[in-house]
Amino acid sequence: MKIPVASPDLSGNEAKYVLDAIQNEGRISSSGKYLDRFEMACAEQFGRRFAHSMSNGTVALHLALLSLGIGPGDEVIVPSFTFAASAAVILHCGATPVFVDVREDDWTIDTTKLESVRTPRTKAVIAVDLYGTPCDYFALEDWCKAHNIFLIEDAAEAHGARYNNHPVGSFGDISCFSFFGNKVLTTGEGGVCVMDNPEYCERLHVLKNHGMKRPGIFEHDIAGWNARMTNVQAAMGVAQFERFDAFLAARANNERIYRELLADVPGITLKHADAKKQTVNWMFSILIDKDVAAIRAKLLEQDIETRPLFTPLHVQKPYLPFAYGKYFPVSERLHRQGLSLPSSSVLTREHIEIVCATLKHALKTT
Ligand SMILES: *Cc1c(COP(=O)(O)O)cnc(C)c1O
Repeated sequence: MKIPVASPDLSGNEAKYVLDAIQNEGRISSSGKYLDRFEMACAEQFGRRFAHSMSNGTVALHLALLSLGIGPGDEVIVPSFTFAASAAVILHCGATPVFVDVREDDWTIDTTKLESVRTPRTKAVIAVDLYGTPCDYFALEDWCKAHNIFLIEDAAEAHGARYNNHPVGSFGDISCFSFFGNKVLTTGEGGVCVMDNPEYCERLHVLKNHGMKRPGIFEHDIAGWNARMTNVQAAMGVAQFERFDAFLAARANNERIYRELLADVPGITLKHADAKKQTVNWMFSILIDKDVAAIRAKLLEQDIETRPLFTPLHVQKPYLPFAYGKYFPVSERLHRQGLSLPSSSVLTREHIEIVCATLKHALKTT
């Protein structure tokens, strides 16, 4: 019995709604009742007036930047420790990524570093709710407002997390989510932009629909994209939202079990977020003081799948020119010492006990 690092739970109405979209509704492209329902659920659950479904989370981030007018000559601040899509989209807009390090305790963007990288060209910050932990939104919102800088939330890994009791997705100018197969909610591939400003909403509509204001009328104000989600994907998403609370409860329970079983294990450091942050356990990620590759190999021998943590972007080829001579010690240490353990909502206590016992044994014998 293999324990995967992440696996979706599609045991609700997913198949039923997908079949309904195909067989009864007959809508398989980019309109239909499931898309409407999915977007309504996103707006409601993530605390916003408007939602635009997108083909995936990367495209959602890309078009969010474009809708705010980010382009060549602009600088966008992004943490060095994140999934590459958070920064790739800055390059796709022709803008310049400016990297900063993350907090040692909860791995989100270190807001005390923002002022040291601000220039007259700084146009936006992409704040990433990494591994399910919300960023410091009080500090981010204050700083962005004070300097007239856009705030974009990359909440791809944090559906259901809250900061100061407000849902992740409700902060800043535009927030983006992914619905890839390993995320808290999935549509297979998929994404969404949520926002309150009707102007951004209108611009995103045009950007995602080939630059057309109205479908079927071939007038193009801009060279647009096709960034649309299908009604079939949205059908899956609607079924996922029906069980959102249950997924969050299962993930919270799994995190409690992990924390209980790994609390006082020598050589393991657990992430710590302050009380304002209600995290979601997207990945249960830990730091260890042994060779990560060796430990991962030992777990895999016992059919336990794990993931290394992200490789910092400032040391990778596409981003090196933007980080020349820079050193981000926290990002580098997290990458060197971290790994993610199996974390999906379908895991049982028994699975987690096996993972923890195997991990403890591997640490002792490595
Ligand atoms: C998954 C992810 C994305 C990209 O989403 P896709 O839907 O896979 O394109 C962006 N940012 C972060 C932090 C992610 O984890």
